[in-house]
Formats: sequence, C-alpha cells, structure tokens
Amino acid sequence: MGNLISLHRARLCYQAPQAEVEAVSDVSFDLQEGEFVALVGPSGCGKSTLLGAIAGLETLSAGTVTVCGKAVAGPSPHIGLMPQRDQLFEWRTIEDNALLGLQVRHCADAAHREHVEMLLARYGLKEFAGKHPSQLSGGMRQRAALIRTLATDPDILLLDEPFSALDYQTRLQVSADIWRIIRQEGKAALLVTHDIAEAVSMADRIVVLSRRPARVKAILDMGELRPLPPLERREKPQFARWFDRIWRELDDNE
Ligand code: ADP
Ligand code: MG
Repeated sequence: MGNLISLHRARLCYQAPQAEVEAVSDVSFDLQEGEFVALVGPSGCGKSTLLGAIAGLETLSAGTVTVCGKAVAGPSPHIGLMPQRDQLFEWRTIEDNALLGLQVRHCADAAHREHVEMLLARYGLKEFAGKHPSQLSGGMRQRAALIRTLATDPDILLLDEPFSALDYQTRLQVSADIWRIIRQEGKAALLVTHDIAEAVSMADRIVVLSRRPARVKAILDMGELRPLPPLERREKPQFARWFDRIWRELDDNE
C-alpha cells in the first residue's frame, strides 16, 4: 500500500461570524507505512486543523486528503487520535480507560480485552490496571492513553502535542517511551508539535510549516538519525544541526 496519508494542496477556511479565517493555505505531504512524521510550526498556524482534516473531523475547502488510498469523508477506523491532554477519566480504572475506545465502538469482546491486557502488561502497567489515573505519574498516564489508542488497532496514530502538559524532564523520558512503543507496535505516526527538539528526536521526516495560514516551508529527512531512539539522537552532532536548520526556517518571517 505504501502511502497511508496523502495531502495534496490542502486548504481550509473556518467560517467565523464576521469573516472567513484561512487556517491552512497550501499543504502537501504524505506519510508512508511504518513512518514517523512530525509537523512543526508556530502556535496557531493550523497544525491541529490539519490533523482534524486527516481525522475526518474538518472538511477541506480545497485540495485532497486520502487515508489508506481513500478520500477522507469522516472518521476512519484506520486512524487513532491521541489528544493534547491524556483525557483519562478519573472515575474509571486504568484498564477501563484503556477499554473505552473499544466500548465506544461496541467491540470490547474477549479477544480485544485480551489484547488490551497484553498491551498493559507489555508496557509496564499491569500492576496499575485496577488503579485510577490520579494514582499514576504523568508518564504512566501518557502510556495508558497511548494503549487506549492502540486498543482499536489503528494503522496510523495522530498525536497532537501529546507531551505539552508534562514538565521538561518527564517529557524527555515519555517521548522516548512513546517512540519505542510506536516502533515496537509497527505503527505509522503523525506528531504535531511546536517543540523543534521533540520533532528532531522522534521523527523520520519533518514537515516545517509557516505561520497561519499554514504552507509547507520545508520537508526534511532525518537520514542517519532515523533508526536512533530519541535520547540517543540528542547526543549526536546532527541533532544540533537539524535543530538550527529548523529554527532558522521558522524564524524566517514569511
Ligand atoms: P495550531 O494547532 O497550529 O496551534 P489551530 O489549527 O488550532 O492551530 O488553529 C489555526 C487557526 O485557526 C487559529 O488562528 C485558530 O484561532 C483558528 N481556528 C481554529 N479552530 C477554529 C474554529 N473552529 N473556528 C474558527 N477559527 C478556528
Ligand atoms: Mg493545536
């Protein structure tokens, strides 16, 4: 199949009461099977809007978006969305939170439950299955949220600034953790972030966006960094070079 997501000349305008707001102007890129792509751009440039269009929650004003070869016409089972905050429900246990996506889709049968239990065990949450979210660290909560997204077995994960609520030190560890799980599960991922270091430490390719309305300024291939996990990448000289390159690209006021 190859191309899991393909955007071609995507444009998206919101109809505000007074005027039309152009959020996305002209964006084209793709996501290949097993690939990790980061979308980097300043706050308010249209990143979440783009994820919304891919997830079938927003409709493009022009251009095309396909998921697994089909034009997007609404939410797709191929896609798992991981939102900005973990959105775990405090009144549910970790296991019940992890099962939520399946229950919403009415497919929490024995086989799926077993899959969730296996994921909780594989990623160190077995002993916490009966606990409530407030009893877990920020990193564990993030892992539980990822397992909930993985439970429905999507081909593509969309992550919208998933670490923004975490403090710096936790963020480093959690992003490494999430990267490893996504790799191990063989999923393709599209990560939205305004954190350049996070993008360089996690992605195979980086799509750099302009200020609103979003345009593609550059698409960069991380090359030799690709196979390395996030914490190892941060030690490499190429890491600083990519960081500077993207910094300059974003700083350039167009
Ligand atoms: P980002 O995720 O890059 O921070 P967003 O995609 O959330 O940016 O928003 C892009 C622009 O579109 C912003 O100026 C925002 O105010 C505007 N916007 C987002 N959602 C709506 C909406 N539902 N109606 C009108 N304008 C919106
Ligand atoms: Mg956003």
